[in-house]
Amino acid sequence: MPNLPFPSKRAPIYQDVPDDKWYNWRWQLSNRINTPEEFEKVIPLTEGERKALSAAHLFRVDITPYFISLIDPEDPNDPIRKQVVPTAEELVPFTAMMEDSLAEDRHSPVPGLVHRYPDRVLMLVTTQCASYCRYCTRSRIVGDPSATFSRSEFDMQIEYLKRTPQVRDVLLSGGDPLVLAPRILEEILSRLREIPHIEIIRIGSRVPVFLPMRVTDELTDMLQKYHPLWMNIHVNHPNEITAELAEACDRLTRAGIPLGNQSVLLAGVNDNVHVQRQLVHDLVRIRVRPYYLYQCDLVEGAGHFRTPIAKGIEIMEGLRGHTSGYAVPTYVVDAPGGGGKIPVLPQYLISMSDHKVVLRNFEGFITTYEEPIHYDPDKAAKPQIRRPEPGQTGVFGLLEGESMFIKPEGFDELHDRGGIQHRLKDEHKWVPLGIGDGSRISVEGDDAPPAGNAPQTPSDAG
Ligand code: SF4
Repeated sequence: MPNLPFPSKRAPIYQDVPDDKWYNWRWQLSNRINTPEEFEKVIPLTEGERKALSAAHLFRVDITPYFISLIDPEDPNDPIRKQVVPTAEELVPFTAMMEDSLAEDRHSPVPGLVHRYPDRVLMLVTTQCASYCRYCTRSRIVGDPSATFSRSEFDMQIEYLKRTPQVRDVLLSGGDPLVLAPRILEEILSRLREIPHIEIIRIGSRVPVFLPMRVTDELTDMLQKYHPLWMNIHVNHPNEITAELAEACDRLTRAGIPLGNQSVLLAGVNDNVHVQRQLVHDLVRIRVRPYYLYQCDLVEGAGHFRTPIAKGIEIMEGLRGHTSGYAVPTYVVDAPGGGGKIPVLPQYLISMSDHKVVLRNFEGFITTYEEPIHYDPDKAAKPQIRRPEPGQTGVFGLLEGESMFIKPEGFDELHDRGGIQHRLKDEHKWVPLGIGDGSRISVEGDDAPPAGNAPQTPSDAG
């Protein structure tokens, strides 16, 4: 690995810890900081931090000696400190906060398996992490050992996957899968690999960031038996990029695991274009592709981290075109209520006519794209495989001509206004010709061809 200019730090209190302990991930886990007394030995606490640490029902606190060493003890606004040291602000409720803002548990056919999208699932395999982020989306279960998933729930997850062939991609998360005992992690991977329709496995982990010493050769040797395996790490600020993280990422990429980064837009931590530029530049230097920048979720404890969505758009404006496309993440709002990730970006399309599109670039250069006169959609490439997306074709389904509209649930009932079924109300009138299977809808006792193009509602159109 080339010599990269990333620091390696140890707080003064750890200077005398022998290397064989410091670089041992088990030592790091057993020496995590969580009491006010322990904190005070590393960083002088502010009043708000002391208040939070004495609060009842505080989301779990634990910080590895490695990660707390990255904090500047003199700076109460240190961007790493804000992510992991609780403050009184996280005790303040805010409008719209929820316990499970992404409705993950509602989209779980069995405990711990979130099936939100057509072809992939999120599989929660533990509630434990190496350190705990104060804005954690899953704080409702994360950090609580009693909430962790049992063997019978794990078996239910596997059985669901076996009987659901539309799932081709499984994302292991939690909690953090890389804090699991190696034997248990390998069992999960091998059981998944026994399912023929699971094409790829992904791991979402902040262990390389909180505990890079966990990424041993032994771990990567085990992981690479289960390819194709992808991994997303979670870095929010350039100060988290150290020599140790660079080495952990080097090990993972040499084991053939492509790395991406998911970061969360956090007020006072990374809500600045120049911080974000440095972050994405440093990430690509350690061969990690910036993948998502998340808008902070509406989750309890995270109110003081939230920014307006406009801040995210400003950041994307300052990245796209200003740096390599490879370094630009997709900015997303994870839809409250469980709609999944919705990309949000500045407006680049200025106007259009029947033959011309007007676009602008990052510099404000305005150009036109002349549309082709002879484009024949009937001659478009033909797919070899068309994956079914039962009930979830959504807006794409409208473009494909599966249906002509998507109606909110209860739309027809509302517009019936409690009226009567009368002679002018004939279902045939509202079935568009050539949409869906192209046939007219059938009503009971009718001779018309069978139904197939009834308008969809969100419950069946997705
Ligand atoms: S590492 Fe992930 S799951 Fe664990 S506390 Fe942080 S955000 Fe939550």
